[in-house]
Amino acid sequence: MSPLFPAADERMRIDNWLTIALTRANERVYQGPVAASPDARLRLDDLAAFDFSAPRTLESLLPWIVERMEHGVVHVNHPRYFGLFNPAPTFPSQCADRIISSFNPQLATATTSPFPVELEAHVIRAIAERAGLPRGTAGHFTNGGSEANFTALICALTHADDGFASRGARAFAGPPVFYTSREAHLAWLKIAHQAGIGRDAVQLIDTDGCGRMDPAALARAISVDMANGRIPVMVAATAGTTGAGMIDPLSDCIEIARRHGIWCHVDAAWGGALIASERGRHVLAGIEAADSITIDAHKWFATTMGCGMFLTAQPSVLSAAFQVVMDCMPSNLAGRDPYVTSVQWSRRFNGLRMFLALATAGWSGYAKHVERSLDLADLIKDGLLALGWKHANRSPMAVVCVEPPPGCADVRSIARAVLESGAAWISATEFEGREVIRACVTSGEASESDIAMLVDSLHAASGS
Ligand SMILES: *Cc1c(COP(=O)(O)O)cnc(C)c1O
Repeated sequence: MSPLFPAADERMRIDNWLTIALTRANERVYQGPVAASPDARLRLDDLAAFDFSAPRTLESLLPWIVERMEHGVVHVNHPRYFGLFNPAPTFPSQCADRIISSFNPQLATATTSPFPVELEAHVIRAIAERAGLPRGTAGHFTNGGSEANFTALICALTHADDGFASRGARAFAGPPVFYTSREAHLAWLKIAHQAGIGRDAVQLIDTDGCGRMDPAALARAISVDMANGRIPVMVAATAGTTGAGMIDPLSDCIEIARRHGIWCHVDAAWGGALIASERGRHVLAGIEAADSITIDAHKWFATTMGCGMFLTAQPSVLSAAFQVVMDCMPSNLAGRDPYVTSVQWSRRFNGLRMFLALATAGWSGYAKHVERSLDLADLIKDGLLALGWKHANRSPMAVVCVEPPPGCADVRSIARAVLESGAAWISATEFEGREVIRACVTSGEASESDIAMLVDSLHAASGS
């Protein structure tokens, strides 16, 4: 029997062992430090022993790898990880991962995977409806927000000039450019590079002093570009900036894009989950008029990593952007087969993770999940304000940017001290030209006592 394909009873035995080992490891992680272990315990040199000349047993490798993982990563699943938006994954999405890996369906075409393709389309329709996008909105699951934003740019370029399909950037009478704020996610630079229009095509628009794109500056930039022979192709507003959780004035941005007939995209990679909450969703008003939106399932919806969504109210542009005919494929169904409406070809059943989680919790369960993080973020803010800290961002999302009281240690040293203590994970960043501590509630399992520990450790590290 090949070790790559053990018999069924052997698989079950190992699988059961693994289930228990991972559950126990997770329990230990929750009790331990948030940061990766210091170098001595990381033992990266152990890898040198793997020259892959002699086989080893899976049974000896699995405990080893679980143990290495416990020490070798920042524990983003930890309830006191208040960092970049990597959530503790929901259990239904973890279950989905096992099912996906087991059946390993090919989602390139609806012909090969009729049920999964329809299930994903069903979830996309539900998200579109909840976000208020028009009937007939199309979309698909991606590996993350960057892929979804890349898809938006390709649609925008295809929409701006049919010639882009065959001639690329040369189809345009001048250099194509697009607009996003200087607080936006800088994956846009890589995206412009990949799309072949170059990083200079990204016009970073000034913010209003509170981290939101300034619409007057946007309108001015578009006029200046047009006067100079550049070709505006897209406005990409951000609903939930990665740093400070600010929401650009969506309706104004979309209105300006419309006035010039250019594509308007809303990057709601993180903030999009607010659609679940009656209390929180009003801050996304205007999103329903966008040509396309990005929402990551692996951010606030807390699926396991590698799950984003792209939605567009212009399905014909999406099909025009990704259509291709290859005889060996079992079908070529515009609007049905994911390989002719998206960046990927071979495709994993990513959407099952969002489906199982949403079906388990319902919108009301996700509303609670989102609102809970908002309440905990308020606790962080109130706790620190009471200790003389200053609140720097007025975000409608669960992220708090704060400045320590005057005379304290500087922000970078405070952040370093908290990380070294292992008590919590936060970051130091810059918001509107000021150095701030950034604490973002990402775990659906963080509790009020975790917040108290965070506030205490920040206070202690500030030395005030
Ligand atoms: C995280 C994030 C991205 C990038 O998405 P990935 O899933 O990391 O590829 C883009 N935009 C915003 C606003 C984000 O928060």
